[in-house]
Amino acid sequence: MNSPLAILAVTLVALVALAAYAVRLRWTRGLARRACADGLARQQHVLEAVADGIYVVGDDQRITQANAEAQRLLRRSAGSLAGRALDEIVHPLASELLPDVRYARRTGAMVERTQTFAESGTTIELRVKPAGRDVIVSLRDVTERARNEARMRDNDQRVRLVAQNVDAVLWTTDRDARFTSIAGGALADLGLRAEQLVDEPSGALIAEHVLREVVAGTPVRAETARGERWLRHHVEPLRGAGGAVVGAVGVSLDITELKRTQQELFDSAHRDRLTGLPNRLSLDQRIGETIGDARRDDRRFALLFVDLDRFKTINDTLGHGAGDDVLREVALRLQATLRGGDVIARPGGDEFIILVPRVVHAAEVESVGQRLVRALALPVAAGGRELFVNASVGAAIFPDHGPTAEAIVAHADAAMYRAKALGGNRFALYDKSMAAVASERLVLENDLRHAIARDELDLLYQPVVDVASRRIVGCEALARWNHRVRGVVPPATFIPIAEESGAIVALDRWVLRQACATAARIRAHQPGFRVAVNFSPRGLREPDLPDVIAAVLAEHRLAGGALSVEVTEHVLLDDGILPALRRICALGVQVTIDDFGVGFSSLAYLKRLPVSALKIDRAFIRDVADDAYDQAIVGSIVSVAKTLGLHVTAEGVETDAQLAFVASLGCDEVQGFRFGAPMRVASLEESLAVRPSPLRLLERGA
Ligand code: C2E
Ligand code: MG
Ligand code: MG
Repeated sequence: MNSPLAILAVTLVALVALAAYAVRLRWTRGLARRACADGLARQQHVLEAVADGIYVVGDDQRITQANAEAQRLLRRSAGSLAGRALDEIVHPLASELLPDVRYARRTGAMVERTQTFAESGTTIELRVKPAGRDVIVSLRDVTERARNEARMRDNDQRVRLVAQNVDAVLWTTDRDARFTSIAGGALADLGLRAEQLVDEPSGALIAEHVLREVVAGTPVRAETARGERWLRHHVEPLRGAGGAVVGAVGVSLDITELKRTQQELFDSAHRDRLTGLPNRLSLDQRIGETIGDARRDDRRFALLFVDLDRFKTINDTLGHGAGDDVLREVALRLQATLRGGDVIARPGGDEFIILVPRVVHAAEVESVGQRLVRALALPVAAGGRELFVNASVGAAIFPDHGPTAEAIVAHADAAMYRAKALGGNRFALYDKSMAAVASERLVLENDLRHAIARDELDLLYQPVVDVASRRIVGCEALARWNHRVRGVVPPATFIPIAEESGAIVALDRWVLRQACATAARIRAHQPGFRVAVNFSPRGLREPDLPDVIAAVLAEHRLAGGALSVEVTEHVLLDDGILPALRRICALGVQVTIDDFGVGFSSLAYLKRLPVSALKIDRAFIRDVADDAYDQAIVGSIVSVAKTLGLHVTAEGVETDAQLAFVASLGCDEVQGFRFGAPMRVASLEESLAVRPSPLRLLERGA
């Protein structure tokens, strides 16, 4: 069918087919093109989804693709990177990358590094990776992280620096209580070295069991001792990134000084500084505890008060240094005398209190008390000398002598005062009659201040007799206090009170005036007559005393020889008083050491002192007729006194036998009941008026 129609038809079909092919071809090409564009777009989407800056460099060193982060990092507005040659881009990052891209392309190796740009302060982690004919550059801005790391390094350094300069140790451990890091200035004091501790168990610093608690999740505060040193630990669980405990982190502070201060504070609150003995506060606590125990167990306990008889004088005359020596020695002696369970306290001054926590019989307390008295009767070395202090000890027993701590304390105190009033150097157990005495003391102290003004003081005179001529050659003025309610109060009671309260100064001067007036009257008939006046250490320390004495003597037109000033041995140990005594001596006044022999074991010091006479204490005279020992003492006192050119008086001569002995031993004068007790001035003048043999009148039985 070669008809033109057929040809046309075939042609037409062919044309249509051709057209269809062409259309199809274009379509598929379009499709392919579109697919290609789609792929790029998708790639771009992927690129944009990545946080890093990414760009692709083609083989002509031109950028074919870049994401927004890359644009930002290279500071380019959108679209302007693609199509650019790398070397056209003016940016430090781009120029920095050029050699890397070349290198990666040449070698096929990936380049990875981090670079900080000083100008912008940014830190970029860059990775240059060859991929076929392209090179893919990825840039990550790690500025923030780098800054953090730098800051942490900085902090770490600072922490180390701080740790090394404070008394602390900063450390971390792992979960097994092994140190992972450790530093601190306290390490050296603890004898530790950081290098030797890392990876080692924590035991050198803090017990491992403490750390187990911390690792279990509990922060711990603990104090531990390491040798001499104390540490306070603050330990917290150390958590990893996920919050799990990976170990412990701790600060250990060296609190040795703090502990020492705390201990000192405790001690100063509870202990007496001088002797180290418990003080009033801790004694009160112990008494409280003991009373509780005694009530519960139906037991008895005793409280003993120890008061030194001569302490005040020692302190006043020898100074506080010597006083402190005495107190320390007394504390040691008391400790040596008592049993382990007994408590010795020093509540203050020269007072010591002893608590005997278990007592069955009063006789036990008596024996403890006597032991204490004996222990303190031995001489004490103080201020380079040997002193006799002696103690008065009083005791009360719970519950026999009182149902409360207050009652027992007050009654032991009253018993001690009784021992003192009886002359000291003795023990007294409380009895009911003492209760009133203690409270009376306070009243007396108050009344004594007004005694002179109320004209309650009286002055008696005791004759002093010359051994050779047996004539009254003088007298001693002795004060009496006629209390308007109590009657006569003896000097043994009121002189110590007057000394403590300071009233003694006025009292001594009152006596001086009265005595000088009396002496002036008597000397009108008996020119050699001399009156002796006692002066307390306190009165002697008044700087104007020599002037007062000179004025009183002048007032009565008396020569210095009309007066004798009696001072105790202790006074002479106070170098501060010596100049005053020298001035008194220079007035021609006789300075006499009273009660000689009881204070010191040595006579050697006498020669450098401004004294002209000794009065041997009546304790040596009492038994001188029977006791060979007392005879030896009196004999040696007299012979030393004679060698030194001192006048010697024996006091307390009561019997003919005593008189005979002291006369044979060489005493110059005697004083005592054998010739007359202290008497009123009228009686004295009467005795003196009887001549030529006053002794006949004075002698007993005459
Ligand atoms: P003292 O100065 O040693 O006085 C002697 C004391 O012995 C007096 O006691 C006296 O009465 C007493 N006495 C005298 N002869 C005998 C005797 O034969 N046998 C006995 N057993 N005793 C005798 P008094 O008057 O009680 O004075 C005691 C102390 O009080 C005095 O001791 C003196 O230290 C002090 N004193 C007395 N009056 C004063 C004063 O006016 N001022 C000062 N500061 N102290 C005074
Ligand atoms: Mg005297
Ligand atoms: Mg005397």
